[in-house]
Amino acid sequence: MSHRVTLIPGDGVGPEIATAARRVVDAAGVAIEWEMAEAGAEVFKRGDSSGVPTETVESIERTKVALKGPLETPVGFGEKSANVTLRKIFETYANIRPARQIPGVPTRYAGEGIDFIVVRENIEDLYAGVEYLPTKDVAVALKIISRKGSEKIIRYAFELARREGRSKVTVATKANILKLTEGMFKRVGEEIAAEYPDIRHEHLIIDNVAHQMVKNPAQFDVIVTTNLAGDIISDLASGLVGGLGFAASGNYGDEVAIFEAVHGSAPKYAGKNTINPTALILSSVMMLRHLGEEAAASLVENAVYVTLEDGKAVTVDVARQAGDVEESASTTGYTDAIIGNLGRKPAMDYRRARVERSGPPPTTPSRWSYGPNVGETRSTLVGVDIYLESDETPEALGLGLSALAEPEFQLQLISSRGTVVWPAGSANADPVGWWRSRFMPLDDATDIDDQAITRLLDRIALAYRWVSVEKLRRYGTEEGFTRAQGQ
Ligand code: NAP
Repeated sequence: MSHRVTLIPGDGVGPEIATAARRVVDAAGVAIEWEMAEAGAEVFKRGDSSGVPTETVESIERTKVALKGPLETPVGFGEKSANVTLRKIFETYANIRPARQIPGVPTRYAGEGIDFIVVRENIEDLYAGVEYLPTKDVAVALKIISRKGSEKIIRYAFELARREGRSKVTVATKANILKLTEGMFKRVGEEIAAEYPDIRHEHLIIDNVAHQMVKNPAQFDVIVTTNLAGDIISDLASGLVGGLGFAASGNYGDEVAIFEAVHGSAPKYAGKNTINPTALILSSVMMLRHLGEEAAASLVENAVYVTLEDGKAVTVDVARQAGDVEESASTTGYTDAIIGNLGRKPAMDYRRARVERSGPPPTTPSRWSYGPNVGETRSTLVGVDIYLESDETPEALGLGLSALAEPEFQLQLISSRGTVVWPAGSANADPVGWWRSRFMPLDDATDIDDQAITRLLDRIALAYRWVSVEKLRRYGTEEGFTRAQGQ
């Protein structure tokens, strides 16, 4: 059977590694019709602010599968990441990043049996990319975590664990600090874990995961985590098994899957024919499994391992780790060696950490809502946070805002960057000119509604520059907002 796959060479070293991956896959005898497509730097330069042209989107809509090289993103300014755009427009919510010991690659952990998979939520969190400058000198990003998004990825992780015969899923969060966002992810993890009694579930705080990963990485099996944390710890994981040159990944959605190396465009190596293409070649192994081409996937995977085990033709990053830079091969030489080794089997059996055919979880959830405080629970408006820009002191602000709060509200507190500074707050807080003022009803008998908030805003606007408003709600008995630090 022939497959159609969209191939995006990408930027920097992208074309070199994409050519290598394509050559190896073709040599494995799989009938693939490659649809060449563009994304990234050149597209931005032509004035397309998404970095992903319509033809590329249409190609992936047709093929449902893409193999892509890294795409360059301006750092700290400029257009949005075309990588993230691709992941989002195709709702590839599961970013799967296996980390396992690789033969012939000397690392500090060689022989410890590292073999785990990072399952990274791929759509939400700070990667929603919703950022504002509420004042010229203060930047704010929204960290968006939804119950549905959490359930999808956590269920994916448990299904993956079951499919691969793995015994443990570690849900990793920062729920100790971010009670509502990361806390939701943790709670959904606990709910879903109860449906998988055959798989051990643990929750670890993400910083401890980083610590444990360096101390004893073999303890991990499947780690599921939020987007930014997943990005960081999967790079850490790749460092344990030889570096970014070996880190493969797949972005899976219900309809589309996009396979790519974890690493970026590594511009300093572009065009030098020295870059290690293994990460993208192993990503294409994941792709072959997704296409149902298990035999070809094993053929390629084994050939990569044999080549690394032999150690005769390895790229400079591997040679460097082995302390032998003289003996390195070019990207094309290494690729030739892999092709020459198709059909050979490595000395060790590395079958364990395979992401088998991935796609929608076999048991599609019948409902998206769990728990007591979703859907059927009515919410009550209990207050409002008004953010404002001001150079006044907390004392002066407290006085001024208190006077404007009545008749419906009272000023409960003012915080600066999350810490209470009024009425009795930290004397050390260093103001940045952006304040949160929290207003609650004047007394328990006062009902507040949108009109009351509008009237309050109108009064405040007479004296202050307010920048944004956040309603405070209660869901059943649970508060849908956190307290300020020091409250
Ligand atoms: P990078 O391109 O991943 O490179 C960082 C370093 O990782 C390289 O200097 C090199 O380390 C090592 N490395 C990367 N690929 C390697 C490979 N195939 N073999 C061996 N070593 C490899 O990260 P960056 O320099 O931070 O980012 C460059 C651009 O890529 C940015 O525009 C960024 O936004 C983009 N990016 C894209 C993606 C994506 O497309 N998915 C992902 C990440 C970053 P040594 O210097 O030690 O040799």
